[in-house]
Amino acid sequence: MKVIRNIKELRAEIGQHRSMASGPVGLVPTMGFLHEGHESLIKRAREMTGTVVLSIFVNPIQFGPGEDFETYPRDEGRDLSVAEANGVDIVFIPGVQEMYPQPTKTKVTVSELTSLLCGASRPGHFDGVTTVVNKLFNIVNPDYAFFGMKDAQQVAVIEQMVQDLNMDVTIVPCPIVRETDGLALSSRNVYLSAEERKQALVLSKSLKEATRQLAQEEVATAGEVRNLLVKIISDAPLARIDYAEVLTFPQLQPIEPDTRLADTGKDCILALAVYFGRTRLIDNTLFQMKEGIPHV
Ligand code: AMP
Repeated sequence: MKVIRNIKELRAEIGQHRSMASGPVGLVPTMGFLHEGHESLIKRAREMTGTVVLSIFVNPIQFGPGEDFETYPRDEGRDLSVAEANGVDIVFIPGVQEMYPQPTKTKVTVSELTSLLCGASRPGHFDGVTTVVNKLFNIVNPDYAFFGMKDAQQVAVIEQMVQDLNMDVTIVPCPIVRETDGLALSSRNVYLSAEERKQALVLSKSLKEATRQLAQEEVATAGEVRNLLVKIISDAPLARIDYAEVLTFPQLQPIEPDTRLADTGKDCILALAVYFGRTRLIDNTLFQMKEGIPHV
C-alpha cells in the first residue's frame, strides 16, 4: 500500500496503475478516523475495481464557524492499518496546504437539494463537500466513487453534480453500517457520553418503528410518519431534534402531510438529525415501493 500526500505523486502513481491496465479505479473519499462504515465502502470498492484509492482529508471548507473542524477525531496510524487490512492500494492524505495552497475562489454549488435538511442547519456545508469531491475527482479521475447512504443527502447532491456537469464517474451508494444495537456508525460517536450513547438509540429505534408501522399500514401519510418519529425521539430527554423529515428520494421534494408515502410513486426518505449535547447525529432510512409492496 502506497501512502501519498502530494497531488503530483498521486497522479503519477495512478497513471502507472492505469498503464498496467489493472482495471477500473475506485475512490473512497473519507475524513478518516475509520470505522466499519468506511470499511464497507472500501470492501465494495475492492470488489468492483482494480485500484482502490482511499482519501483521508478533513476538509476545512465544509465546516462552519463554531463546528468541530479543529477537534474532529484523527488517528492516522490506525487509519493506515485499517486501510492496509482492507486491501487499499493507495491512501491519499493531503494536508490543507496541498489541497488549498491559496483560499479557493471557485466553489461548486448544487442548488435546491442543498437548501434543506443538513443544508439548512449547516449553511455552506454542501458547497464545501461538492467542491472538495470535485477536486478529488479531478485529481484521481476515478471510474467509480463510493459513498455511504448514512449521508443520503450527500449522495443525492453528488449524484446531481455528476449528472449536471457530465462527470465521467459512477457513484456507488453503499448501505448504512450499524452497531449491533442499531446506532449508525459515525466518527462523531466518540463525542457521546455513556448516557448520550444510550439515548442516541432513539434515532435508529424511531426509524425502525416507523418502517414497521408503514409495512403494517398502521401509519401511511407523511404527517403520521413524521409525528411518530418525533414522538419516539422525544422520549429521550437529552435529544434535541434538528429535523425529522419525510421527503422523496433522491429528489428531496417535500410530501404533503396528508399524502400517503405509497401514493407519491417515488422512493421516500425518513431523515433525522438530532443533537445530544453538542454532538449532532444523523440517520435515515428509505421507504421504497416495489409492485405495491414497501421495501425498507
Ligand atoms: P466521513 O469520513 O464521515 O466523511 O465519511 C466518509 C464516507 O463514509 C461517506 O461516504 C459516508 O457516508 C460513509 N459512511 C460514514 N458512516 C457510515 C456508515 N455508518 N455506514 C456506511 N457508510 C458510512
